[in-house]
Amino acid sequence: MTLHPSVMKTYGRIDIAFTHGEGSYLYSEDGKKYLDYATGIAVNSFGHSHPRLVEAITDQSSKLWHVSNLYRIPEQERVAKKLVKFSCADQVFFCNSGAEATEGAVKVARRYHWSRDDKDRTEIICATGAFHGRTLAMLAANDRPLFREGFGPKVPGFTHVQWGDITSIESKINEKVAAILVEPVQGEGGARSAPKGYLKKLASLAKTNGSLIISDEVQIGVGRSGTLFAYQQEEIEPDIIALAKGLGGGFPVGAVLAKENIGEAMSPGTHGSTFGGNPLAMRSAEVVLDLLMEKGFLTELQNKITYLNDKIKKLIERNDSRLFLKSKGKGMLKGIELSEKINVGEFSTLAREKGLLLVGAAENTIRILPPLNTSIKEIDFAISVFEDLGKKIIV
Ligand SMILES: *Cc1c(COP(=O)(O)O)cnc(C)c1O
Repeated sequence: MTLHPSVMKTYGRIDIAFTHGEGSYLYSEDGKKYLDYATGIAVNSFGHSHPRLVEAITDQSSKLWHVSNLYRIPEQERVAKKLVKFSCADQVFFCNSGAEATEGAVKVARRYHWSRDDKDRTEIICATGAFHGRTLAMLAANDRPLFREGFGPKVPGFTHVQWGDITSIESKINEKVAAILVEPVQGEGGARSAPKGYLKKLASLAKTNGSLIISDEVQIGVGRSGTLFAYQQEEIEPDIIALAKGLGGGFPVGAVLAKENIGEAMSPGTHGSTFGGNPLAMRSAEVVLDLLMEKGFLTELQNKITYLNDKIKKLIERNDSRLFLKSKGKGMLKGIELSEKINVGEFSTLAREKGLLLVGAAENTIRILPPLNTSIKEIDFAISVFEDLGKKIIV
């Protein structure tokens, strides 16, 4: 079977279709079982068919799906309340995807300055290697010209600085800068963690300059870093946070979180989303947050992260084939940079043939994105696949 021509070819798809999933495993049409360490690109935070998620969605689907934000949505208020309780933010706007969340975050930042009569503050500083989504404005925030090619004029108002380099930003920050938009760990950019202290310096630079910090936690947020939000490990309080991917555990949900004085700049009519925060999406997000905040869950997650890190470190140390170059990323958004002798796509095909699903990223880095409730046994299996491939592929 090949892809039907009626589907637009925006993806170079792998020729596998899955029929169902359970826990950390996916099952394909031809009866094969895969350990899913791709999690739909950091989306299935609790794997597949988690009973609590199934129950919430089933229950809600027989009651009410959609009413629009013309009315109060109690399920939305409950999720917003939880996000606010567990973060440094005070207000939440719900959307349906990551690009909507990052774009919404930029709108909130600009509108905040505008409402304070600082109307020229519109510039957004981004980093090299950044990925913030695929809307026209976010194409300008991304670092990849390939994504922009053929899509008309680049949306103005976005500049780039060298990722991880504080001096690079010092020379660019001025009274026109509305916000610094940053991923605490770059996902698509190659599972790159910010160097220690980088975010703190960014935040202090932004503050001195009157600019805001937007933490794009679409991929690393909602538990994947080992804490509920990644910024919490960096001793900073972002002004705005963008969430999506893992927040709905597989159901499309995005969110923009903001401090009160910033969120206040958004008055009725200034932004919106027909589907954003609908009851079905909110029931999934609520379960994801509840599971993450269950007593002991994050501690257990951190133990698994330490375990995975040790395993990756040892894998690289004993790496006779010179295939595995470097351990990257953070928490359950890990990466291994591969020797340039093998392409990350080829490596991921070989891993898949051994029953392990992974995702590529820039810098020839293979991403490891386990469900947050994965087991030690599953981690061991994933590492054994890397070991096998390390022995087989001599570079
Ligand atoms: C995936 C991603 C986005 C875009 O999310 P979509 O849901 O695909 O629009 C934005 N920012 C980061 C950091 C991402 O990883």
